Amino acid sequence: MLEHETIQKNVIPVCKNCILYSFAGIEINKEGECNFCADSTTKLPLWEKVAITQQDQERATKDWQNVVAEMKKNHGKQQYDCVLGWSGGKDSTSMLHYLVNELGLNPLAVSIDPGTMSDIARDNVAMALKKIKVDHVLIDNVQDTFMRFFRWMVLDFDSNELGAGSEQCRYCGYLLHGLIVKEAMKRDIPYVILGYSPDQIHFYFYEMPREEIVNEWGPDFGKFSIEEDAKWYIAPMDLKAKDLPRVLLPYHVLPYKEDKVIKLVEDEGYVEKGNADPLKTNCYALSAALFYEAHRLGALCYAVQPAELVRQDPTLRKKWLLTIKHFTRTVYNGDFNREKVEEFYKIIGTSREEVLERIRKKVDKDPNKENILRNIEWIKSDRRKFKTI
Ligand SMILES: [Zn+2]
Repeated sequence: MLEHETIQKNVIPVCKNCILYSFAGIEINKEGECNFCADSTTKLPLWEKVAITQQDQERATKDWQNVVAEMKKNHGKQQYDCVLGWSGGKDSTSMLHYLVNELGLNPLAVSIDPGTMSDIARDNVAMALKKIKVDHVLIDNVQDTFMRFFRWMVLDFDSNELGAGSEQCRYCGYLLHGLIVKEAMKRDIPYVILGYSPDQIHFYFYEMPREEIVNEWGPDFGKFSIEEDAKWYIAPMDLKAKDLPRVLLPYHVLPYKEDKVIKLVEDEGYVEKGNADPLKTNCYALSAALFYEAHRLGALCYAVQPAELVRQDPTLRKKWLLTIKHFTRTVYNGDFNREKVEEFYKIIGTSREEVLERIRKKVDKDPNKENILRNIEWIKSDRRKFKTI
């Protein structure tokens, strides 16, 4: 009996094709497959497969060629050809290189520190600025507004079917991208370029649509915004006075290989070797959101993304299962960016204890409570294993 219980606790059924187990609406069926492997058209609030047709791809590629031609034609007539949103991560840094050194353009690089920019991302920006001649704006005076939002996310956000990490990135993105767009509007710059990689197509493919920018990128007074936050968002008045620039994601149509991007930013001396790792350059608020997910759902929701890669290339499965197994535990224990997450909690006026207490109450009310607690038992087990049916 005892032995049986131990076995139950350290073994969890995992999809036989990918790396997903049961959380946030994902279930393993009798055939041993997750919802997405059983039916690729499955739509869960957490995730659905976004398919880009060849036609979408061709149209976007052609558009980017036209945009480049237009920027080159007008080069020199105005101070800047475009605005680049520059996070200091490998992708936006390599995009900066592409615009300046390959296309010969003069972008205005705009970085934003919501108060959660990692030291490595900051170092990367400083180091690259020594190598690339470009004007740079750092916006770091919006931190109160960001912190109000993060406080709401950490203490009041609750969902049994959505990931805190991706929801946080989405809402934060409205403000972040809006600030970059406003910099372009101030100077009548017609294009905003963002360095999202080709696997980041869940929210947008190639272009952020105008209707969404106008209708959804505003403050949320019912949730986290107060009146003084409004000035940082794109106001209806701004839109009357100025044209909205187009917001483009060129990596969705350009050749892209992650290892080549890393090699380029390291070889060119834009970042120290090893500092192109997204785990090092992601913001600390995301580390905190992952800690939340591990305790709230007993899983890391971002696994749906590598799961998609594993479906396309089964040879990656073993590596990703191992990553999920170890990384989930590290995050659950609070050992992923521990000090920075503590600091972040302090800035938004809370503590790890309060966060955990709030999560406990949310789990208690969750209809999937039993499953969540089982996942957590598994995460805590030293000899934990995945099992395929
Ligand atoms: Zn699966």
